[in-house]
Amino acid sequence: EEKLSCQSLTPQTTVNLLDSVDVFLFDCDGVIWKGDALIDGVSDTLDTLRAMIVFIICVGKKLVFVTNNSTKSRRQYAKKFHSLGISVSEDEIFSSSFAAAMYLKANDFPKEKKVCLSVTFFSFSFFQCRFSSVCFSIKIMLLILAQVYVIGEEGILEELELAGFTGVGGPEDGKKTAHLKPNSLFEHDKSVGAVVVGLDQYINFYKLQYGTLCIRENPGCLFIATNRDAVGHLTDLQEWPGAGCMVAAICGSTQKEPIVVGKPSTFLMEFLLQKFNIPTSRMCMVGDRLDTDILFGQNAGCRTLLVLSGVTNLSDLQDSSNHIRPEYYTSTLSDIISLFNN
Ligand code: PLP
Ligand code: CA
Repeated sequence: EEKLSCQSLTPQTTVNLLDSVDVFLFDCDGVIWKGDALIDGVSDTLDTLRAMIVFIICVGKKLVFVTNNSTKSRRQYAKKFHSLGISVSEDEIFSSSFAAAMYLKANDFPKEKKVCLSVTFFSFSFFQCRFSSVCFSIKIMLLILAQVYVIGEEGILEELELAGFTGVGGPEDGKKTAHLKPNSLFEHDKSVGAVVVGLDQYINFYKLQYGTLCIRENPGCLFIATNRDAVGHLTDLQEWPGAGCMVAAICGSTQKEPIVVGKPSTFLMEFLLQKFNIPTSRMCMVGDRLDTDILFGQNAGCRTLLVLSGVTNLSDLQDSSNHIRPEYYTSTLSDIISLFNN
């Protein structure tokens, strides 16, 4: 039997971990909250980490929150934190909806521009020896591929708008239907240069057709997935299909693979590293999922801690077919304070 290569946190390893880490990256669902309910002890744990003092010196930890749930924007997440009694600012939050907008920005995706060239021709009449009035004019519309079609929810549209991009689709297209009519084309806007796919509770055949046509008919169109989580805890008692389901639908129709911008992508990690300029050996990723959170931290050389308060339980962790292993595991986030004080 394969030996478990990760250890349960102990008072000693907790002290060592807290001594050697300056930044904590926290996954949200399963670590901070479950759906809309705060996990016990989280609020005090975050306060304690921010205000940590060792030998009269304040060594408060920097806290960062990274969520793959793209349905909200950073602003909406800051509001959610406040409603749960936790003070977190927008710039400490990195959602996969924000990552999608930042990916487009990093790749110089155009902001919408319609350049209108208008040329007017005059004619001169020798016979009447005067200019006649305007004869004709030519208008040239230069369309730059600048729209982003969204199969997803409000969070993605808000982040796109804040970054200056033009998002279309999203919730608004939830009411539309694709009529299958012989000898008649389904029309889509040719100026779509990227399709962003995230969790969409209102996905329908219209959106699938729209996104599919954008990608299939324009080889340059980007196909971006906010995340590929198989399932998510949209409610506390049950799992629901995650964004991986919507992404797989578009993979199926286009036969293309997306660019993933949420966890475990290197894009998001490099974006974070640029922001914080701290060696990854002094960062610890805390999460409840092996294939997103722990892999995300591990790939970058961060310390990793799995909490069992979310989707992974001890028997999943001990399953030898699971090749992703955190450095440490513990039952819940507040353990790091109780073990530290032990
Ligand atoms: N996507 C959706 C739709 C979810 O509901 C969840 C969790 O509930 C996630 C992603 C995962 O979010 P996180 O990365 O915060 O665990
Ligand atoms: Ca999680």
